[in-house]
Amino acid sequence: MRLVLLGAPGSGKGTQADVIKTKLSVPHISTGDLLRAAVKAGTQLGLKAKAVMEAGQLVSDDIVLGMLEERLTQPDAAAGFILDGYPRNLAQCTALETLLKRLERPIEVAIQLDVPSELIVERIATRAAVQGRQDDTPETVRERLRVYAQQTEPVAGYFAQEGKLKVVDGVGELGEITQRVLAALSR
Ligand code: AMP
Repeated sequence: MRLVLLGAPGSGKGTQADVIKTKLSVPHISTGDLLRAAVKAGTQLGLKAKAVMEAGQLVSDDIVLGMLEERLTQPDAAAGFILDGYPRNLAQCTALETLLKRLERPIEVAIQLDVPSELIVERIATRAAVQGRQDDTPETVRERLRVYAQQTEPVAGYFAQEGKLKVVDGVGELGEITQRVLAALSR
């Protein structure tokens, strides 16, 4: 199964992907995680990405695409994958389509986790307390939500046009939401 998970920052994409990956036996590929690992490792790419991430803006399309291609061509992704945090704008949608066409592995379905914005702010505040992410400060969160509304929201429309979008209610208990996602996948 080749799946894209869509939703605002804090909508629960990462949490759901971690549960669903075991059920589907495919890796969870998060561009945010890949970037955070590069920052932590202090690679050249990580150094470039760090300030951009801390400002809540998008890292350049070229950097993220290169990193993603490297990850998608690793053997464990041959059976499928759950993509989380990519594509983040319409240019990335086109880049992903071209890349996966070349690899002969197109996206099969995009699931959007639908969570009202008041709840998003609350969830990010909780995550900030638990995980201490550098980009979960109130100022950066505001910027990330602004970037999401402006650049990432149109991504759902892109997959809808392709007939691949399924919207799932992302409010409720973790297990309940997982069941909704799995039900949407089997429809
Ligand atoms: P996330 O963990 O998905 O919330 O991503 C954290 C941060 O990493 C984002 O705010 C961006 O700065 C950067 N990032 C993650 N994925 C992408 C992407 N597909 N394109 C550009 N920047 C990204």
